[in-house]
Amino acid sequence: MIFEQIAVGHMQNFAYVIGDKKTKEAAVVDPAWENGKILNITKKYNLKINKILITHTDFDHIDGVKGMAKITNAAVYVHKNGEKDIKNLGVNKIKTIDEGDEIDIGKIKLTVLYTPGHKPSCVCFLIGTNKMLTGDTLFVEGCGRIDMLGGDIKKQYESLQRLKQMDENIEIYPGHDYGSMPSSTIKHEKENNPFLRCRSFEEFSTMR
Ligand SMILES: [Zn+2]
Repeated sequence: MIFEQIAVGHMQNFAYVIGDKKTKEAAVVDPAWENGKILNITKKYNLKINKILITHTDFDHIDGVKGMAKITNAAVYVHKNGEKDIKNLGVNKIKTIDEGDEIDIGKIKLTVLYTPGHKPSCVCFLIGTNKMLTGDTLFVEGCGRIDMLGGDIKKQYESLQRLKQMDENIEIYPGHDYGSMPSSTIKHEKENNPFLRCRSFEEFSTMR
């Protein structure tokens, strides 16, 4: 598998490229700010982008979707709660996704986890069994804010509790470079992320 984390823009965003080495099929995740930088990676590996995946529909993650869709003619995969936001960009080739859906990138299998809280359109993408794109649901040693439109503290707590229960060896790749390193593991987060370390919703509420 080809897997690249790409730092883009001035808000410490991460876009990602996932590609199948054999079939050369690829998906780009959260194209924003610097599509040229993303396309240089796909060119380097001779990949064909046929899917655009969205972790959630905040502008800093979808800023480049229209341009990327135009260049690649790829369909945009977004949670059904974010469909309108993508339509508003002027993109028509949309596939809505929800909890448990599976997405193929060549021979690579992705599973969708619906993880609302930061925004109603938040999902995580589990790649195979050991890598997970967590968008703004879970950062290295942090989590997304909830004081913007659509934020929900109870849902965020539940989503984070759910991620906490997952296999400790899963590597996590967030939507922003806000931690002490660009990626980590569920184990590291359970030990170092205050939002996962807290033991109750009440405790979680005092931290927000
Ligand atoms: Zn963001």
